[in-house]
Amino acid sequence: MKPIYKPSGAAAEYGDYAVNIYTGCPHRCYYCFAPTVLRKDRETFHSVVEPRANIVEETRKQLEREQITGKTVHLCFTCDPYPMDYDSSTTREIIKLLKQYGNHVQILTKGDGSRDFDLLDGDDWYGITFTGASAEEEPYSLAPPFARNRLKRAHEMGIKTWISFEPVINPDTVLWAIEKTSLYVDRAKIGKLNYHPSSVDWKDFGRRAEELCQWLELDYYIKDSLRKEMEK
Ligand code: SF4
Repeated sequence: MKPIYKPSGAAAEYGDYAVNIYTGCPHRCYYCFAPTVLRKDRETFHSVVEPRANIVEETRKQLEREQITGKTVHLCFTCDPYPMDYDSSTTREIIKLLKQYGNHVQILTKGDGSRDFDLLDGDDWYGITFTGASAEEEPYSLAPPFARNRLKRAHEMGIKTWISFEPVINPDTVLWAIEKTSLYVDRAKIGKLNYHPSSVDWKDFGRRAEELCQWLELDYYIKDSLRKEMEK
């Protein structure tokens, strides 16, 4: 088992290395790609959430065997490192291990990772996903005002902060959030909704989002699939 791996395809736009800690995710985002990637039944993916077998020990062995150091490791692609209402102490163990070997982490969550802020420093990233979806569309995630509050606290502690605005569900709410959070966000990544019907004018949204980021002097990245729409 090699828990630390190099993501490929669109996932590679998020990080050079990654670890997926849990078997599933309870947040039930309707656009979630993970069950497809993992070839799992969607209901099982959202209801059976536990640390992958021996994940801590296998990560330790791989770090030792391959002497992985100096990398920034994304947590996580096919699950959330802080599944709401589940024990996430395994995430804490993984962060400790990665950092013990001289690596850094890039966290992305729809939950609450503030418990582990004490492990992070100025070369680690704490990030949240913000899509602009309504509470009815994303009922199982940490409410956006609380998520932004955690991000702000991370920033005040000197941890690097980022927001994944992907997939954009409500363009106007996302543009509002880009502006609202720019004082405590170090980087924004923006991507369109893929594989689901949408009436969004992606070309127009992408242009407005890019102009706003430039005006705010915000470090931003437009994901490839959105960039392609903008260039049509
Ligand atoms: S938070 Fe991520 S992994 Fe969890 S259901 Fe939503 S998209 Fe899937």
